[in-house]
Amino acid sequence: MRPETLAVHAARSPDPGTGAVAEPLHLSTTFERAPDGSYPQGYYYARAANPTRAALEQALAALEGGVEGLCFASGSAASMAAFSLLAPGDHVIAPTECYHGTIKQLRQFVQPTGVRVSLADTWDLDAVAAAWTPATRMVWIETPSNPRLYVTDIEATAALARERGAWLACDSTFATPVLQQPLALGADIVMHSTTKFLAGHSDVTGGALVAREGGELLERLRNYQLQAGAVPSPFDCWLIRRSMMTLPLRVRAQAAGAAAVAAFLQSHPRVERVFYPGLSSHPGHALAARQMSAFGSMISFSVRGGAEDALAVAARVRVFTRATSLGSVESLIEHRASMEGPDTSTPQNLLRLSIGLEHPDDLVEDLAQALG
Ligand SMILES: *Cc1c(COP(=O)(O)O)cnc(C)c1O
Repeated sequence: MRPETLAVHAARSPDPGTGAVAEPLHLSTTFERAPDGSYPQGYYYARAANPTRAALEQALAALEGGVEGLCFASGSAASMAAFSLLAPGDHVIAPTECYHGTIKQLRQFVQPTGVRVSLADTWDLDAVAAAWTPATRMVWIETPSNPRLYVTDIEATAALARERGAWLACDSTFATPVLQQPLALGADIVMHSTTKFLAGHSDVTGGALVAREGGELLERLRNYQLQAGAVPSPFDCWLIRRSMMTLPLRVRAQAAGAAAVAAFLQSHPRVERVFYPGLSSHPGHALAARQMSAFGSMISFSVRGGAEDALAVAARVRVFTRATSLGSVESLIEHRASMEGPDTSTPQNLLRLSIGLEHPDDLVEDLAQALG
C-alpha cells in the first residue's frame, strides 16, 4: 500500500469492543492474567508493551517498510538505544555534521564505555572507507544532515557496511518515511525524532527506531527498550499516531513551500548562500533527487556578515517564530550556532528554517521584509 493509505490505516481499525472508529487511548499500566496465569492478549506491563504504543510502532514499521518499530521517550533516547548495540572495543563512524546531540552522546556516554568514535564526511563514501577499522561495527548517518542538509548515499553506504560486516543506522528525521526509505536502500535501522514531522504540531517529544529485519539486532534493541525504560507515554503515542494520518499531506505541502522559499532566498542580495537540496547549486542535489521523493522542508542560509547580521534578520520576522525544533505546522527560524554552543562548527551567520504550512507567499514576504 502507498504511504497515504498506510498513514491512515496501518494498525488502525474500529475498536472491536465498542465500534469506536477513533483509536482508543489505553492508559493501563498492567494487564490481567487468565486463571491459568497466561496473558491472553499478549500484554502484561505497559513498559514492555501496551496497545496504544503497539499501534504506533506497527504503523511506523509499515511506513518505513521494516519488520518492527520501537518507540522511545525522545529521539535522543532512540539514538542511545541504537548505540547500546556497541560493545567495548567496537568502533563507530558518525558524520562530521549531524544533530549536535548525537555527537554529544557518542563523546559523553558511548566513548567512555570503550567504544572508539570516528567522525567522517559520510556524504563522501571514500571518507567513510578511509575511517574504517577492523573493529568498525556501526556507521551512523543522518541524511539530509542538520543544519546544512548534506546528503549521504544510503544505498552505497549500506553496501559498504554489509560487505565489511557493520550495521548501518540512519537518522531520517529530516526526510520522514514519506520522502525517503532507508531500509529499502539497505540500512539496518532507521531512527526518527518523532518530536519533529511525525508528531508535527510542536506538542509531543518522542523517538523511534525501525529495524529492517528480525534477529539478534532487533532482540537486543527490544530488550534495551524494556530494560533501560525510556518509553513514551500512551498519550504521547496516541498523539503521534493521530498526527501520522496527515503526515504525507503535511510533508509534501511543506516541501513545496520550502522550494518557493529557497528560490527566493537564492535570489536575494543579502543572502550569501542557501543550503537546500532542491537547489541545483547544492552539492547533494543529484543524489537527493534519486534518493528522496521530494527535497524536504528544511532550509539553511547564510546572511552576508556575521552573527549579529543573522540575529538581526531573525529579530525582524513576523510570520516565522524564533524557536528551535522543526517539522511542525508553523514555520520556525533559528540561529543554529548559538543553540549548539561554543564547540559548534555551524557558521555564525547561518539561519535555519523549518517551513510549515503557511502560504509560501506570506513566508517569502516575511523574509523579504526581515532581510530589508
Ligand atoms: C531533534 C533531533 C534529534 C533528537 O531528538 P529529540 O526528540 O529532541 O530527543 C535527533 N536527530 C535529529 C536530526 C533531530 O532533528
